[in-house]
Amino acid sequence: MRTYIFGPVPSRRLGISLGVDLTPTKTCSFDCLYCQLSKTKFHTSTRAQFCDPEDVIKELKSVLGEIARPDWITISGTGEPTLHTGLGFILAEIKKLDSAPSCVITNSSLMHMPEVRHELMLSDRLLPTLTTVNQFTFERIHKPTTDLRLKEILAGLQLFSRDYTGAIEVEVFVCPGINDSAEEIAGLRDYLCSLPNLASVYLNTAVRMPVDSGVSTADQGLLNSFRSALNLSVPVTTAFEHSFVPPRSSNWNRPALSSDVLKLLLRHPCSEKQLEQVLSSASDKITALLMELADQGKVRQTSNGDWTLTD
Ligand code: SF4
Repeated sequence: MRTYIFGPVPSRRLGISLGVDLTPTKTCSFDCLYCQLSKTKFHTSTRAQFCDPEDVIKELKSVLGEIARPDWITISGTGEPTLHTGLGFILAEIKKLDSAPSCVITNSSLMHMPEVRHELMLSDRLLPTLTTVNQFTFERIHKPTTDLRLKEILAGLQLFSRDYTGAIEVEVFVCPGINDSAEEIAGLRDYLCSLPNLASVYLNTAVRMPVDSGVSTADQGLLNSFRSALNLSVPVTTAFEHSFVPPRSSNWNRPALSSDVLKLLLRHPCSEKQLEQVLSSASDKITALLMELADQGKVRQTSNGDWTLTD
């Protein structure tokens, strides 16, 4: 039974990615308008040892022994991973394992903390989210804990970027009508240009937005014009261009189980088609698993047809 490791999951941006989830479900310093997980349960910016890092590494070693080498070991999951005080230890241990490079997906909220920057230096790739350079817009989109100041976070990411030898790939979540004005984009552009080793930018939008989220989905046209207005010298891709999902590792040679479906839905609502693709399973098998889980009251279908965990 796995507790911290999920996947490997074929990811549009990362290839075959083995996930490491360090926080209890939805423990986050933000409660973003666009979050596809449930509402934030533990809203905190206080770092803690949510689980024993030794246990995480033990489980990781055991999973790596069962699967083909993934492209990345990705620290992400159902909350903000930099909240875990054992992040540095875990990244150091992943390096020692020499099985795959490490990647951290972060909401950037703790980049003002020297200890967090120090720990993240041990990663090989950082995917920080950044949606605005304005505190008001930041609060509107992310609903951060009250102590978080965007100015300090931006300064922290700049400092980090100066010394980091890995790749920094910023994800900008485009929220139509909120962070897509000429002024907002110009502010982001100036800031992104100030990051010494920015490798690329990814313009994302929530394709499956909760009905009552207060934010709509950006279409391809909007993402294209956002990209043109950013006018950056590094590659800028959009969510619509990342349509290729690599096939699941050939070493994943067992049929999909209901636990695989539950683990995926815990992190992301999915359509039946996506579950088939990610789990490399026939549609009738996925349908049968979903029906079984729905009968048990564990999953439900949303109004747009996606499947999600029952609250
Ligand atoms: S930072 Fe990520 S996990 Fe946290 S609320 Fe925002 S989208 Fe959800």
